[in-house]
Amino acid sequence: MWRASVLTIFPEMFPGTLGMSLAGKALAAGTAWSLDVVDIRAHATDKHRTVDDTPAGGGPGMVMKADVLARALDAASSPDDTRPRLLMSPRGMPLNQARVATLARGPGAVILCGRFEGVDERIIEARNFSEVSIGDYILSGGEVAATVLIDACVRLLPGVMGQIASADDESFSQGLLEYPQYTRPQLFEGRGIPEVLTSGDHAKIAAWRRAEAERLTRERRPDLWRAYQERKKP
Ligand code: SAH
Repeated sequence: MWRASVLTIFPEMFPGTLGMSLAGKALAAGTAWSLDVVDIRAHATDKHRTVDDTPAGGGPGMVMKADVLARALDAASSPDDTRPRLLMSPRGMPLNQARVATLARGPGAVILCGRFEGVDERIIEARNFSEVSIGDYILSGGEVAATVLIDACVRLLPGVMGQIASADDESFSQGLLEYPQYTRPQLFEGRGIPEVLTSGDHAKIAAWRRAEAERLTRERRPDLWRAYQERKKP
């Protein structure tokens, strides 16, 4: 069982979209994965349930308090918990399919969602969090980012999507973007389906798909294209 624990000040944001479709079915069935949501605010100690304070050194916004976060984490995860601790953060290592696959093969994740200007640096050090970013833009909080990470992992778990997600011709799995897809009707607003796809010649279809995947990657993602060519070199 892959176990996700999410620490947030907005527990009502979960499971959210993770409760729907195939991930949601698997969650309800309780077979492939589980989700445990920890309300950070429940671990505040004052009567106002304070989770944040002004930044040392001044400046705008608020910072999430290390002491409150530590209590929330220690409630969610025992010291012998082997799951990686992840802080969603625009400063983190960019998330990619390789990292997702590695996480999905592991026991799960303990995920801290930041809010305001972020978290006190000392919680990252003291509880050994690694920072994960979902892209070079700023969200208002880590909850959507955590949802992205969990969604990407859960669809790879055995039994969640059947063979669909394990098929290794998806975008990124081979370092290429996916080829174009078509389905009926045969003719849509005057546009046909590429003839090769209806030829029944599987070798030809595979060659066409490979060529299209390479063309799209070359045109749209020079970074992926360079890495792909590097890997192909003997
Ligand atoms: N002041 C911070 C941004 C805070 S945004 C900075 O400049 O780095 C508030 C919270 O949203 C963050 O603590 C983080 O948990 C989440 N967040 C924002 N953008 C994110 C991204 N690209 N990836 C992952 N989490 C993000």
